[in-house]
Amino acid sequence: MRTAGPRLRVGQVDELKAELHRDYPVPVSVTLVLDGGWLGSKHSGVLAEQLRAAGRDVSLVFGAPFDPVDSSYKVQGLRRLLRWSNRTGRKLELLRTGPIGIPAVAAGAKVAAIGLSSSTRHLGGPVARRADGVVPRRSPQVFVPRLLHWQRGVDLKGSEITDCSCAACARAGTGLQRFGVAFDSSVPSRVRNAAREHDLHALAGVVRGVGAAADPREELTRLRQDARELAEAVGVPVPKWLGNWDQ
Ligand SMILES: [Zn+2]
Repeated sequence: MRTAGPRLRVGQVDELKAELHRDYPVPVSVTLVLDGGWLGSKHSGVLAEQLRAAGRDVSLVFGAPFDPVDSSYKVQGLRRLLRWSNRTGRKLELLRTGPIGIPAVAAGAKVAAIGLSSSTRHLGGPVARRADGVVPRRSPQVFVPRLLHWQRGVDLKGSEITDCSCAACARAGTGLQRFGVAFDSSVPSRVRNAAREHDLHALAGVVRGVGAAADPREELTRLRQDARELAEAVGVPVPKWLGNWDQ
C-alpha cells in the first residue's frame, strides 16, 4: 500500500516529518511527492536524515517543469537516498521517472516506473513562455536508444541516431527518420501514437539488454559512455545522469 502523498515544496521539513511519521493501520510505503530541489546539495542531506529517522519504506515522485534530476548535485542527491535504502534495507521506489530509473534499480531501487511521456516521468510544473513570444513548432518526442533519452524528432540527424531495430521501426522500415516532422499546433495523435509504440519497444529493449548482461552495471556504464560520445559527436545535449552516476 502506498500513501496518498501531498506535494512537498523544497524546505518544508515539518510537513515532510508529518508525512513520514503518520500512523497507518496497515504496513505502507510512504509516498513523498517532492520538488526536484529536494535533491539539491543543500536539501538532500536533510531529506536523507529524515528518512533515516523515520525508518520507513518510501515511494518517491519528483516534480519539476522539465527534468527533476537536471544537475550533477541532484544526481548525487538521488544516489545518497539509494545508499540510505541499501544500508538500512528500507525499500525505495521511484514512481514516476525516466531512464535514470535503470541505474537506480541497478543501485538498489525496488521499483522504477519509467514513463513514456514527460507527465509520467515526473510531476510537471508551470512552464514559462518564451520571452520572444515565438511559439515553437511541435515535433514528437522520441526515445533514442543509443542516446538513452528522448529527443525531438526534428532534431534527429544522421543514421547513427535514427537507425532503430525495434519491432515498430522494423515494420515502418524508415527508423526514426519518420519522426523528423513538425506541426504548427499539436502533434497529430497518429504520429504521437507511432512514437509511443517505438518508445515502448526501444525502452524495453534497453532495459532487457541491461538486465540480461553478465554484469548489468558494467553494461550500463558502457551504454552511458557510448551515449555521451555519440551526443558529443552529433551535438545534442544529454541528461546529467549520464555523466554523473559514477562520480
Ligand atoms: Zn524503433
